[in-house]
Amino acid sequence: SSESAESVISRLSATVSDYPKPGIVFRDLTPVFADGPALRTIVHALIDPFEGQFDAVAGIEARGFLLAAAGAYASGKGVVTVRKKGKLPRKVYSEDYTLEYGTATLELHADDLKPGMRVLILDDVLATGGTLGAACRLFERAGVQVSGFGVVLELTGLRGRAALAGHRIRSLVRE
Ligand code: AMP
Repeated sequence: SSESAESVISRLSATVSDYPKPGIVFRDLTPVFADGPALRTIVHALIDPFEGQFDAVAGIEARGFLLAAAGAYASGKGVVTVRKKGKLPRKVYSEDYTLEYGTATLELHADDLKPGMRVLILDDVLATGGTLGAACRLFERAGVQVSGFGVVLELTGLRGRAALAGHRIRSLVRE
C-alpha cells in the first residue's frame, strides 16, 4: 500500500473530548492499531529512520507496548517494557515524573539491557514529555544509550520536544 503514515492516522484515529477528565482532548489511536496495513505503515515509519542505530526497542505501558513489540519484531531486535510502578518482579530502576495532578513512577528491570546497548523508545502520544523523559532517565541509569524517540502523534502546544532536548524525536503527525 502507498498510503502515507500521516494519511492513515488522520483517516483512522479518533478524538474524544473531556476524556479522561474535563478539558482533556483524548487522541485515540486504537483504530489505527486495529487496521493491518495501517499498523504496518506506522510501525515502519517509526523505526525505519533509526535503522542500524538501535539494539532493542522499548515501549511505555500500555499502548507503547504494541508499537514496541511490532517494531522490535520487524527489525529483528528484542523488546523491553517500561512499566508503571510495582509490575516488574526483580531489581528495577525507578523514576518519578510529573502529571497534570501529582506524580507517577515508571520502572525498568535493571538488567534487561546491557550497558552500552542502544535503545529506541516508542509511545503513542507525546504531550508534555514527562513520560518519555522519565523513560530516558531509566535507560541512562542502566548505562544504555537512547538512540531516539518515536511517537505516532506529537501535541506540539505542550512543548514535549523541549523536555527531551538533545535527543532525536520522530513524530508521524504533529498537531
Ligand atoms: P506526557 O507525559 O505528558 O508527554 O504524556 C504522554 C503519555 O500520556 C502517553 O503515554 C500518552 O499515551 C498519554 N497522553 C497524554 N496526553 C494524551 C492525549 N491528549 N491523548 C491520548 N493520550 C495522551
